[in-house]
Amino acid sequence: MTTDSWTAYNADSMKHRTFSSFDDAEAWLTGLDGYSGGDKMNKDVLTGGSFVAKITHRTAYEATDWRDLYHVHDEMCPVNCKEAEWPYSTDIDVVGMIVLNEVGGEADEE
Ligand SMILES: [Zn+2]
Repeated sequence: MTTDSWTAYNADSMKHRTFSSFDDAEAWLTGLDGYSGGDKMNKDVLTGGSFVAKITHRTAYEATDWRDLYHVHDEMCPVNCKEAEWPYSTDIDVVGMIVLNEVGGEADEE
């Protein structure tokens, strides 16, 4: 995973990249490489369609439930055992969600 702090989007090539510095992002976005030129160029480039942005948050995975916390029925179970089994596929051992963490900050507690 990149730890770059900047990102830039070129509305003409519809490509984006990340950069370690604003100067590198600016050079990529304002250089001649990556532009169709002439009438082929996406006119959005002329009116703010391309941009540089500071990366403030990044995704992370937060586990919320683990298979080994659940009951597994076996021969010791009483008839009509009421213990809760893992409610998800047996192909996975953990479930969770994607969260956003502030770069350089504490994890969001929402
Ligand atoms: Zn059981």
